[in-house]
Amino acid sequence: VPELPEVELYARFFARHGLHRTIQRVEVRDERILGVTRKDEFVRRLRGKQFTRVRRHGKHFFAYTDGQAGAPVLHLHFGMSGDLAFNEEPRHTRVLFAFGDGTKLAFEDMRLFGVADLVDDPDAFIAEHRLGRDPLDPHFTLRDFRELMSKRRGAVKAMLMSQEVVAGLGNLWVDETLFATGIAPRRPVEKLRDSEVKGLFTAMRKIVNEVIARKERGLEPPPRYLLWHRQEGERCPKCGGTIRRSVVAGRTTYACGKHQR
Ligand SMILES: [Zn+2]
Repeated sequence: VPELPEVELYARFFARHGLHRTIQRVEVRDERILGVTRKDEFVRRLRGKQFTRVRRHGKHFFAYTDGQAGAPVLHLHFGMSGDLAFNEEPRHTRVLFAFGDGTKLAFEDMRLFGVADLVDDPDAFIAEHRLGRDPLDPHFTLRDFRELMSKRRGAVKAMLMSQEVVAGLGNLWVDETLFATGIAPRRPVEKLRDSEVKGLFTAMRKIVNEVIARKERGLEPPPRYLLWHRQEGERCPKCGGTIRRSVVAGRTTYACGKHQR
């Protein structure tokens, strides 16, 4: 499943291959991939335009077209199996953009949980869907994070999973953040010390950045990550304690019974 780090890499891939080329042809090969925009409108509004810049917010991807007001913005969500391909047409290509210079970009999604759609304004989309801050947004500060947290009560894991607080972090990276910070997933947000809140904010961004940087070089996350030890009874790579499985915020959760307090 494409998580935030994968979606960031897709955004970079799109930026490398899909920008500043005239969209000569748009093929919607399976209409089930579309959101609210109908096929003929999707094709008509993009044809002849160029994608000019990309933006990622959580697990949502946007590609703007030439600057004028009312210009459509492509919205992609990669669902469970979405991916992009350049100058290839994978078997499950749902939308294909053929550019005037002979190149082509395919959006594939075998399981069809993804979405290709048009929006007029990504900011309005983000507000409408009550999406919280993007964890890597450079304007997202510790102060903002503290303020968001101050409005929440209950398990810290549920708070980090909430899309209205941080968009797109996902179960694995939330567990990893708590593991790195030594905080038990069930600890109530309101009981966290200031230093712990700061630790969460720093760890969350560091982990996502590290995973992205490594993935970009074809590397897996480091062996010291909880990721490799997500099994009941495993030994904690950090302190030798025992990894425990539980359900927090409705999600399968792994945490060290010793160093996560
Ligand atoms: Zn431990």
